[in-house]
Amino acid sequence: MENFTFYNPTKILFGRNTISQIGNEIKASGVKSVLLLAGGGSIKHNGVYDTIVASLRANGIDFVEHFGVRPNPLVEHSNSGRALMQKHNLDGILAVGGGSVIDEGKSLASCYYLDNIWDAYEKKVVPDKGLPLFVVLTLSGTGTESNMNSVLSNAALQKKMTLYSPLHFPKVSIIDPSIQMSLPWHQTANGGIDAITHCMENYFTGTYQETTIGILESLMRTLIKSLDALQVSPNNYEDRANLAWAAVLALNGVSGAGMNGGDWATHKLQHGISALYPEVAHAPGLSALFPSWLRYNYKLNEPQFARWAKNVWHCDSIEKGIAAMELKFKSWGSPICIRELGCVAKERLGEIVENTLGIAPVIGGLKKLDRADIAKIYEMAW
Ligand SMILES: [Zn+2]
Repeated sequence: MENFTFYNPTKILFGRNTISQIGNEIKASGVKSVLLLAGGGSIKHNGVYDTIVASLRANGIDFVEHFGVRPNPLVEHSNSGRALMQKHNLDGILAVGGGSVIDEGKSLASCYYLDNIWDAYEKKVVPDKGLPLFVVLTLSGTGTESNMNSVLSNAALQKKMTLYSPLHFPKVSIIDPSIQMSLPWHQTANGGIDAITHCMENYFTGTYQETTIGILESLMRTLIKSLDALQVSPNNYEDRANLAWAAVLALNGVSGAGMNGGDWATHKLQHGISALYPEVAHAPGLSALFPSWLRYNYKLNEPQFARWAKNVWHCDSIEKGIAAMELKFKSWGSPICIRELGCVAKERLGEIVENTLGIAPVIGGLKKLDRADIAKIYEMAW
């Protein structure tokens, strides 16, 4: 096993009726006022907002609301949140939502003191002090509720960038799986598919890290089983809870331990598409690309791909395993090629390739993909 550092300081409160503890947790951290960051306002219809406000008031925590975080969150919205924080002299952030809201909350947590938030995402500056972030999770999948990653987009520059910072670890994350029962199916499916792909991004660089590989296989099987069950019975608490916890473990450091950093090319290829097409959500983009990434790369580590096909999909060949995955994604209503995303113009694939090359100096861990590799995978995925 390769050497690694495991560090995850996020305190997680998991289970039914845990959201009412948020005010108490914030107060215990010594924070007196927060920016309450949220998306389109669904939390006002499912009781989450009322529970949070009552808890904040009961603990004497002042708050200013900043709604309107959109999928593929924008630095422009983050900037206006920071202006609000400065105006009201707030000393913390409370992100209530799924991955997008939390990622924008992270940009405020790490970059509050910088002149320009986007500079940190462009790696021009490394933030070294921040503000505490608290999270109430409403959609499981990204795992961002317990890690140091944040993905932000810049509409003006048509760029989508990732920033890793220890300042991004939430101080406290509350995960009550029961509030996810009211989610529309496609959101549940998107969350589960994203978590499955996080497992795959780590898995294929492995060969002998039995502990981590075993954890990853268990997580993938659990995510598939939970999603299948929730497609039929969305109100089953145990399946919601299993999906929610598996999604945390899929990207909190445990499932990447000793795996050489994983591969992560498919996530960057997805970012390359949704930077130009912000209407392409994260999970559909990933499910459209992953089959082609698998077919393009499996010869580089055939025993590991064969093991995946057998232990996750119960198939006796790699191609059958990939086909089983495609069938499953389709049965959940997710696209398995770029064409099925419905909005991408084939003549813009070249532009998407160039955009992807600009995202990171290195694309891929199993194979470092060059321009020709990337173009070929997009073409296969078309
Ligand atoms: Zn992801």
